[in-house]
Amino acid sequence: MYKNFIFVLGPQGSGKSTQAQKLAVYLNYRFISTGEMLRSLAQKSSQSVKKVAEFMKKGELVPIEIVEEVLHTELEKSDEKGFILDGYPRSISQLQNFLAYISEKKWKLEQVFYLKVSEDECLERIQGRIKEEKRPDETVTAIKKRLEIFQNETKPLLKEYYKLGVLQEVDGQRSVEEIQKDLRGRV
Ligand code: ADP
Repeated sequence: MYKNFIFVLGPQGSGKSTQAQKLAVYLNYRFISTGEMLRSLAQKSSQSVKKVAEFMKKGELVPIEIVEEVLHTELEKSDEKGFILDGYPRSISQLQNFLAYISEKKWKLEQVFYLKVSEDECLERIQGRIKEEKRPDETVTAIKKRLEIFQNETKPLLKEYYKLGVLQEVDGQRSVEEIQKDLRGRV
């Protein structure tokens, strides 16, 4: 069955999950966060799965084979036509593999939204989050690691999206409603 994909990307603290979820409701697309998927996988008790929790706790990327296996299984068993992916892909290899995978299936990457937020603003927002949330990876060290991976491994994907003609940059330093209105106007 034919499927369309939209990616929402931005640094930790950019508000990408909130925006992606609202956009999914508007478009009647399914929202998938690889972070959430892996968090529920990490709660299972098998040995191989315990490793997943270790990577996540440190803020490191979970091995690509594991991420792809859970994501592909999820995509293949669902009958929705559209998906908004949050937190995926995070590296050039993840993107290359995903493009090969969807090309084989004859599915399509429709659009990519990049939420631009300055590093200072992100850090400020995350500091508020550290106090509120109880996620095991919301520690200063793990967040620094995640921001570093975003800069070094995920941000370079923007060039690829630009070349593919699917990139839309959005100013993420506005109210949640304003950003959402902007996104809805561009899909
Ligand atoms: P954040 O956007 O704040 O980093 P997420 O919930 O998206 O939070 O991700 C949490 C963790 O899940 C990441 O630090 C990483 O360990 C793992 N993870 C999520 N998506 C991927 C991915 N595409 N590839 C590898 N690891 C991932």
